Amino acid sequence: MFELPASADIHIIEGEYSAPLVLLSFVIAFCASYTALFINRRIQGNGFFHKNIWLVLASLAMGLGVWSMHFIGMSAFELPINMEYHIGITVLSMVPAIIASYLAFYFANSKNKKLFSYIVAGIFMGLGISLMHYLGMAAMKIDAYYVYKPIIFTVSILIAIAASFAALYIFSVVKNFMDRIFVKVVAALLLAIAITSMHYTGMQAIQFYVIGESALHLVDGTEPHSMNIMFLIIFVTVGISSLFILAFLTSRLDKYVEYRLQNFDGLTQLPNQKQFADDQKSDKDTHLVAIIHIHNLEKYNSSYGYYFVDEMIKTIYELIDRLLPESTKMYRTEANRFTIVSSTMEQSQHLHVLLERVCAVLMHPLVIDERTITVDMVCAVSKSTVKQPIQELFSNAIAVLQAPITEFKHEVIEFNPDIHTFNFENQLSLDIYTAMKNDDLFLVYQPKVDPNHDSLVGLEALIRWNHPVFGMVSPGIFIPVLEETKKISDVTDWIIEKVCEQIDQWDKLNIPFQQVSINIPGLYITSPRLSDTLKLILLKYHVKPDQLELEITETSVIHDIQSAILAVSKFRKKGFSVALDDFGTGLSSLSYLKEIPISTIKIDKSFVDGVPESIKDAAILKSIITLCYSLDLNVVIEGVETEPQLEFIQKMDKKPIVQGYYYSKPLTAEEFREWMNGQLVEKK
Ligand code: C2E
Ligand code: MG
Ligand code: MG
Repeated sequence: MFELPASADIHIIEGEYSAPLVLLSFVIAFCASYTALFINRRIQGNGFFHKNIWLVLASLAMGLGVWSMHFIGMSAFELPINMEYHIGITVLSMVPAIIASYLAFYFANSKNKKLFSYIVAGIFMGLGISLMHYLGMAAMKIDAYYVYKPIIFTVSILIAIAASFAALYIFSVVKNFMDRIFVKVVAALLLAIAITSMHYTGMQAIQFYVIGESALHLVDGTEPHSMNIMFLIIFVTVGISSLFILAFLTSRLDKYVEYRLQNFDGLTQLPNQKQFADDQKSDKDTHLVAIIHIHNLEKYNSSYGYYFVDEMIKTIYELIDRLLPESTKMYRTEANRFTIVSSTMEQSQHLHVLLERVCAVLMHPLVIDERTITVDMVCAVSKSTVKQPIQELFSNAIAVLQAPITEFKHEVIEFNPDIHTFNFENQLSLDIYTAMKNDDLFLVYQPKVDPNHDSLVGLEALIRWNHPVFGMVSPGIFIPVLEETKKISDVTDWIIEKVCEQIDQWDKLNIPFQQVSINIPGLYITSPRLSDTLKLILLKYHVKPDQLELEITETSVIHDIQSAILAVSKFRKKGFSVALDDFGTGLSSLSYLKEIPISTIKIDKSFVDGVPESIKDAAILKSIITLCYSLDLNVVIEGVETEPQLEFIQKMDKKPIVQGYYYSKPLTAEEFREWMNGQLVEKK
């Protein structure tokens, strides 16, 4: 293997490299490394799937990449002899590359961050790449002989180990920054250099020769150098398609994992509160909502521990699941509540009977973890012969549970408006102060983008309420309640404080957000309290007035136009921007447009919905924009969702600012940072 035979009749054959194929082999090695590192990122997160799934996918990407790189590298080496491959050994040579990649990634991701782990990982990876390489060489079927030069042979293995170690070590050091595309590219480049340098050093170690006079034509230059195109095509196809499949699989799995984690309960696998809220977007009306409520779960938690309670919930769920028909839509909306929704009248009637059976069965003691317990529970039902909004039926069922007369005695209690006087709106109004304290109330920020350069020009702060009982409640529902119960000013002050605190943080982090808009409800714009609040909070967080925009609606204006003009002028003089929100939805008397010194008009989503399909809508939108510009106002179009809508806007001479799902949905502060990173990377 390492020594040339002693015969005098030996003729060495020289090969030559095809530069484009060498480059192609490097590109494949790079793509494989990049995909493997990309998948590796998932190994570190606490995901729905076991780490091993990601480990296997990363190893497959790396192993197959190394393998196809090798054979493309072989095709790049042209000899004046025919070269074929033994199919069995060729396929077998994938195995060490995949196993070595698995072991290497396993060690590189281990919690034990000692240098030793990386040395072990580097050795595995290097040996795996080398074993793959030399097995691949053994798969060659040629009309010639070959030997290895022992020193270069050894050096090639050492290079593979050293370069793998360096790549994995650097990968581990920078892995927390793997979200940045640049870092991933550098780490992948290093790994690709490790793989290719091993291969091409290994190729330097090999010496091809023929024996005898008859083979002289192979070395005297009369025989042309050739390569086997068929094999090349197979290796490139396998390499690239496996990488694409793995990358595709990873991203699908990732999306699925995220969806499962956010929308399903880990214990029962039932859809959770979020899915319940999401389903209501598409399926708003129904005939029946029932809530099975397990009472005093905390008591079991503190007496027997969480494991016991988990087992208890699982047992109860299995029991309910067995008694109800398979088609029943059930959610685990809270730790101690299962919510059932029925959309047909017949099913609703049948369900009522079955729910009584569930209660009857739960009256009997359950044996859980060798303990016998009796569960206190009740089932609240709200049903209607005509379809009603789920949210309404749900809050009626909650009213049953919250009524002082309701006991937890294994019965089905139907909502009765005379008895269960609890009212959803009242409850929201009661809960608002707790919500502010507990961060159930929080802000999201929707980017406003200049479509000329796709650049951020500001954000709108929008409020969200994740209510502990009702789940996500839309601002469209609770803002009117707060306005009616006169609590909206307190909430607006809270919003102003949260926004300024956030601005201060972004300022410190040098995040270029420019300006944040705050919705100022109803007549609050004319209240002296608003000026005082702004003055105090701006001072507290070192925020300048031009960093804020106050969004008012037509209702603020039409009630008392003179006061509105005064208030808006005062804020403008202090340096705040003032925008008129939802323009076009109210009475839209154009006359006040020129009287009120607003800086911006926000054109309502309804004007852009039919654009560009409807010629009428497009003409109306264009003329409103022209009118606003003639009054020297800034223009923002709300609710731009689609590419054709944006294209329509981009065709205008003077393009308005765009706010809408096309660019981004409202984001939490953290999501906004990621969005900004994405924007910056795209621009680069
Ligand atoms: P708005 O001030 O006109 O806010 C714009 C609304 O349009 C937001 O709904 C936003 O999520 C939604 N939106 C933006 N782009 C798109 C899009 O492309 N497609 C669709 N379908 N919708 C889009 P959101 O957050 O549900 O707020 C609704 C309304 O509730 C707001 O309308 C505003 O009047 C009120 N609101 C929201 N947050 C606050 C707040 O902090 N204070 C006050 N007083 N009112 C608020
Ligand atoms: Mg607004
Ligand atoms: Mg609006």
